[in-house]
Amino acid sequence: METFDYFEDVSFLKGKDALEVLDTLKRTTLFRVKGRDSTQAVLVSTLIHGSEPCGFRAFVKEINEERDYPIDVYFMVGNVAAAQIEPAFSHRNIPEGKNFNRIWCVDQPEDDEETCIAEVKGFLNKLPLLGVLDLHSFMAKGVSPHTFVVSVDDKTLELAKCLSPYVLKIEPGMGALIEAMSPKCPSFVVECGTHDAPEADAFAEVVLDKFFKAYGILEGEAGDALTDDVFVNMTNFKVKAESKAVWAEEKDPSADVTFRPDCEGINLSAVKAGEFCGWATSLDFMVASTGTEDIDVAEFFYVEDGKLYFKQDCVPNLMCANEFIAKESGFYLFEKR
Ligand SMILES: [Zn+2]
Repeated sequence: METFDYFEDVSFLKGKDALEVLDTLKRTTLFRVKGRDSTQAVLVSTLIHGSEPCGFRAFVKEINEERDYPIDVYFMVGNVAAAQIEPAFSHRNIPEGKNFNRIWCVDQPEDDEETCIAEVKGFLNKLPLLGVLDLHSFMAKGVSPHTFVVSVDDKTLELAKCLSPYVLKIEPGMGALIEAMSPKCPSFVVECGTHDAPEADAFAEVVLDKFFKAYGILEGEAGDALTDDVFVNMTNFKVKAESKAVWAEEKDPSADVTFRPDCEGINLSAVKAGEFCGWATSLDFMVASTGTEDIDVAEFFYVEDGKLYFKQDCVPNLMCANEFIAKESGFYLFEKR
């Protein structure tokens, strides 16, 4: 193990708060809390994005409970280097670094970050995992918590529907942790709320509790389904690196696209074909893909009289009035299943 730390003991973290725990870590770290039966295990992943501390705080709280687990529980603290950049929890990735949740399916690692993730993946693949929970938050405000899955089999959906009010199926090719783990076991990303918001911290604790109950790690039931809807057929849209995107009440002539400023408010809502999206003179500012395949942006948007419109009924997600995010991970359109 050259590129990540592994501990079978969490006692040195006890009594510390989240910032103190973060300070003790040196790099991507995995913890094993041994259960009575080590032939089965679950993984709880936190801080794959350094600016998303809700899951990490839930982990710190959980280990201070000093519980006995019936099976092994592994906790991962993903992008420690990004999270430690001052002020703590302000950086999604390290500057010029990789997005830690897009490099889990790399065949030939080309840098230290990819090598680290490849080694963690090799380690995780040897574990008897029954389930994976990866806790995240998002930049947008006023958006509901939601759950991403890779597979929509009955077992995965049963728990996914309990974890949050929306379930979205991502497509292979993103290189996310849950994509790498889904062939092994049901795997969930839960987006718990806005970065660093108390509501997101509270939601992450509830989700962890439900996940543990679903796997018999805690006594009790995961609870009732919060939704029947599942959104599928994901398409990812990114603003091109060389294009200029702004968000404003009226067209900015210096930009390639001016998105409507309230675009965050249409996330996870049913958008109808013909809905106004902003101003642009062409669709050249954007690329689209399913993850594995490039898609023609013109299937989903059109420009008329200098205005940009949605072309299909769809459900947007992770639309965010932020140029870095619009270029780096972009936003997504789904269809209701
Ligand atoms: Zn994230």
